[in-house]
Amino acid sequence: MTDRVIQLVSESTRNIPLNFAPVASNAVPVRDTLQRKIHDLRISVTDRCNFRCVYCMPKSVFNKDYQFLPHSELLSFEEIEKIATVFVKLGVEKIRLTGGEPLLRKNLETLIDKLSKLQTLDGKKVELTLTTNGTLLRKKAQVLKNAGLDRVTVSLDALSEGVFRQMNDVDFSVAEVLDGIEAAAEAKLGPIKVNMVVKKGMNDHEIIPMASYFKKTPHILRFIEYMDVGASNGWKMDEVVSSSEVLQRISAELEPLECIDPNYTGEVAERWRYTSGQGEVGVISSVTQAFCKDCSRIRLSTEGKLYTCLFANRGHDIRALIRRQEHQDQTDLLLENAVRNLWAGRTDRYSEIRSANTSQAGDRIEMSYIGG
Ligand code: SAM
Ligand code: SF4
Ligand code: SF4
Repeated sequence: MTDRVIQLVSESTRNIPLNFAPVASNAVPVRDTLQRKIHDLRISVTDRCNFRCVYCMPKSVFNKDYQFLPHSELLSFEEIEKIATVFVKLGVEKIRLTGGEPLLRKNLETLIDKLSKLQTLDGKKVELTLTTNGTLLRKKAQVLKNAGLDRVTVSLDALSEGVFRQMNDVDFSVAEVLDGIEAAAEAKLGPIKVNMVVKKGMNDHEIIPMASYFKKTPHILRFIEYMDVGASNGWKMDEVVSSSEVLQRISAELEPLECIDPNYTGEVAERWRYTSGQGEVGVISSVTQAFCKDCSRIRLSTEGKLYTCLFANRGHDIRALIRRQEHQDQTDLLLENAVRNLWAGRTDRYSEIRSANTSQAGDRIEMSYIGG
């Protein structure tokens, strides 16, 4: 039986009009009202997934009655390339492909090939990464690498088969994901990051086995605080295990850790290293330690809406602009103006002002719709 049906075209995906007016300054990279540069573009290439992770796409909501987007609604690869080109011109240096499960999108390597040709403002290759549940990596890793993908992040929430199956809720095995990670390593899609969402009472007893397993590998395990993103997962604050607790547990039970510098300003994960020098772990403290101050990310949904914050409840429809028939020759300029105006007016800092009361949740976009 359906508990609730969440319509994709709802409050949460309503549009805010874009402002195409010419901009006063042509400065790059563009900065928002809090002087944050644009750096990181996350592109969702599908809203579908072969998992039903309980914290992301619970079966009670994402069931056979759920209406996923029809193919005609998805941005085509050419449209994504057009939009990404404008973002790179305005300062984006890193593009992450996500979903849903991005490897379910047919011929994804064609898109990767197009995006891999983009160059940053200082003439370097745009860093191209992908977040996946790993189940299709054995089949696709080498093809993706050949097309120009630089790295992958693989999600894995437990090493114990029972716990993992309980979390993905569709009977995929740990072995399949570990094999996918191995395939990615063989294809040189590293350094590979492994994301573990920690949900209290469900997989927090897997923290030490996971840390211990990945300490012996070159892969970087990152613990993500379970977030109040979307409206379908019934999030409660007392199900969050804080990053500081994760770090304390690893330090006490495995080996002490020391903090190391971020790779760049605005990096989401805080980096820690075992004092023996053997291995690194990361923590993403989206709930207990807001990192809005340096947030340089913008998200493009599967059907072409821009979101300046993961917790936004309204998108900006960019697809309407690129699909309109008239004045095609002006599209690139209007697109650039729109993105400049959008970023220049950005004020988002949800995590900094989040309260324990998440009664506004009904209005927010789903993680599977916008990606991580
Ligand atoms: N399907 C791919 C995967 O699982 O890697 C890509 C999309 S998934 C939405 C991206 C990331 O978001 C995953 O690492 C997932 O674990 C994380 N995620 C999803 N829901 C979350 C939640 N409520 N809190 C924290 N992280 C979440
Ligand atoms: Fe699918 Fe990723 Fe969401 Fe899990 S976290 S349901 S794998 S989109
Ligand atoms: Fe960025 Fe919004 Fe997350 Fe803050 S809450 S870090 S602004 S995505």
